[in-house]
Amino acid sequence: MITLALSKGRIFDDSLPLLAAAGIDVLDDPEKSRKLILATNRPDLRVVLVRASDVPTYVQHGGADLGVAGLDVLLEHGAEDGAGGTGNTGLYRPLDLCIARCRMSVATREDFDYASAVRQGSRIRVATKYTQAARQHFAAKGVHVDLIKLYGSMELAPLTGLADAIVDLVSTGSTLKANRLVEVERIMDISARLVVNAAALKIKREPLRALIDAFEQAVGAQR
Ligand code: ATP
Ligand code: MG
Repeated sequence: MITLALSKGRIFDDSLPLLAAAGIDVLDDPEKSRKLILATNRPDLRVVLVRASDVPTYVQHGGADLGVAGLDVLLEHGAEDGAGGTGNTGLYRPLDLCIARCRMSVATREDFDYASAVRQGSRIRVATKYTQAARQHFAAKGVHVDLIKLYGSMELAPLTGLADAIVDLVSTGSTLKANRLVEVERIMDISARLVVNAAALKIKREPLRALIDAFEQAVGAQR
């Protein structure tokens, strides 16, 4: 049995066409059923639904053989392991799936002069869920920041005076706009990656290789 870890929402939705192109149909709709283990049209392949930020944990520890996770999630996960951001031990990252795309950016209130705060070398208070990526970004720029860890609703932080700036994921920019925030710096492009358990890749080499190849072809065809 091969177990594929996905998260509900955009990762699941954007993975479906890639799975279909690889000949895989998921037989349950996660929005309608409460099941956490979903069967597919392939008797040897099942999907497990986990929190987006738990996908690397499941795959790393063998709760799933492979999974789909955002680069944002992988960067924070790698850091938690003390593996320095990207070198997750036991986690093989063969493929950029080019789905669930967005960017990680710095945003502030319209009336905050980010450029001059940076120029003057002021300490900037930055609220974010992505403390690792943010720390690296500002360190590389030589900007002094006090990082405040949040788990959601980052947009609220500059509006309440909790922080001067946020580091968050932006796709259309409409959430920022609705909260009268402006994107002042792009940090990196984000997309979802296929991650594979390295030990599983040895033990179930052939079916996993075939699956990775099928995903690779599907990604190429969608471009
Ligand atoms: P949870 O909602 O369970 O706390 P999450 O917010 O990380 O977790 P989703 O909102 O489903 O889960 O996002 C999953 C992934 O989709 C993110 O990790 C990111 O890689 C990607 N993504 C693409 N666009 C956006 C966006 N505008 N906002 C947030 N995530 C996005
Ligand atoms: Mg979310």
